Amino acid sequence: MVLLLELKGVHFLLTYRCDLECDHCFVWGSPKAKGVFTIKQIKNVLSETKKLETVSYIAIEGGEPFLYYPIMVKTAEEASALGFRVEILSNCYWATTPEDAIEWLAPVAKAKGAIGVSSDFYHGDDWATNEAKNAIIAAKALNLKVGINTVKNPTAELPNPPAEIEGVKIGALWEIMYRGRAATKLIEKANKKPWREFTKCPYENFAKQERVHIDPFGYVHACQGIAVGNAWQKPFSKIIQEYSPYENPILEPLVSGGPVALIEKFSLPHDEAYADACHLCYAARIMLRNKYPEVLTPDQMYGELE
Ligand code: SF4
Repeated sequence: MVLLLELKGVHFLLTYRCDLECDHCFVWGSPKAKGVFTIKQIKNVLSETKKLETVSYIAIEGGEPFLYYPIMVKTAEEASALGFRVEILSNCYWATTPEDAIEWLAPVAKAKGAIGVSSDFYHGDDWATNEAKNAIIAAKALNLKVGINTVKNPTAELPNPPAEIEGVKIGALWEIMYRGRAATKLIEKANKKPWREFTKCPYENFAKQERVHIDPFGYVHACQGIAVGNAWQKPFSKIIQEYSPYENPILEPLVSGGPVALIEKFSLPHDEAYADACHLCYAARIMLRNKYPEVLTPDQMYGELE
């Protein structure tokens, strides 16, 4: 059964490369990571996205998209010219002072982008990193829309986060998702629950998918590491039009009964307790990679960086 998706957002994983290697990063961002979109590929995906007539926003993230600054700015410009709202997510390593941050952000403001700033104990020594503060000051000076992304720590040892940074409210505190690097680095400190509790994916509604991610290898992800096609092999618009979670061997059980159904469908061995649904899901997917290499890909998403 093919569903007519009302896709609202396309997230470009512009590169998996990052200057940092945060413990909670579920795409295994790293200085060692390879790959970045070419401008030709970006234009192709954007015009394919436009054909769908349902998408309102383009997100540019990574990895750290500012590492490929001219390509990132060009993506924002092209997306904005096509009428999409543009959001860029960054750890702000480049915001050494407010004045310098204005130089970095001025072209983003010109392209009518908004900026999401990652700030927490994974990215620095405080909930509010100096780089995030500088970027926020610069964004406000440029009238650029700015938001803050803050992720919880695995234990409650740390002080509570402030309500705002440089006058911008911290919205929701994001839960850690125990997949990717988080599933190895943070798992020791996590509280665990019986595996049978994870009967639903808490973050994606695959039967009514509203966003997808696309990476520099062309893979279109329903959840990061679960591919529904490759846009370098088939037009992106066709992948979305033909999307059917019920015919995808991994999405089908996830839709019907979450990670528990994935374990049961393939009779996979498992522990008695997991940190969250993503932890159980990721553990199951690792065991299934050899069986479904075209779906459970790329290697990067499973920590195989060499
Ligand atoms: S890892 Fe599994 S449970 Fe977590 S968001 Fe993705 S599909 Fe859902």
